[in-house]
Amino acid sequence: MSWIKEYVRTIPDYPHEGIMFRDVTTIFENTDAYPRMIHEFANFCQGKSIDKVAGIEARGFILGGAIAHELGIGFIPVRKQGKLPRNTYKEEYTLEYGQDALEIHTDAIREGENILMVDDLIATGGTAMAALNLIQKGGGRVANACFIIDLPELGGSKMLTQNGCSVFTLSSYEGL
Ligand code: AMP
Repeated sequence: MSWIKEYVRTIPDYPHEGIMFRDVTTIFENTDAYPRMIHEFANFCQGKSIDKVAGIEARGFILGGAIAHELGIGFIPVRKQGKLPRNTYKEEYTLEYGQDALEIHTDAIREGENILMVDDLIATGGTAMAALNLIQKGGGRVANACFIIDLPELGGSKMLTQNGCSVFTLSSYEGL
């Protein structure tokens, strides 16, 4: 079993019946687990010539900022729509109920930059694919993505791989 699972708290039937919510705040608040996890993600990045880290709002910020700091590179926030103050690119995606959209600043990425994409968990991959498309719109390449948790049965990590993105996860759980 992955060491990180000891620090993930599972809340059954949140926010809906049948969902096992994987709460990672219990990793973030732990003085051993949080830096160890960031170090493992940073190790994965060694030798990959990554230019910037893009974190998906909001838990991706907590991970991505720390990884960028450890790698000594910049951080790009991938935000929910309407939050960024300058010109943005926008990408809509489908949620369980309805639609949402992510945005990045149009000048956040230089043409051809190699961007590491980061979020806490990958499920269907809808969020991550929207972020990937957004980064590509901005001129970046997403060759690598990191998540704490994979829910492989929902197919998101496979979809990213099929789109040319290598996926690194610290743990995987069966089911939703
Ligand atoms: P998806 O777009 O289906 O891959 O869902 C990924 C996003 O939804 C991530 O930002 C996660 O934080 C959140 N998410 C989806 N399923 C769960 C779950 N079981 N527990 C915690 N967060 C989840």
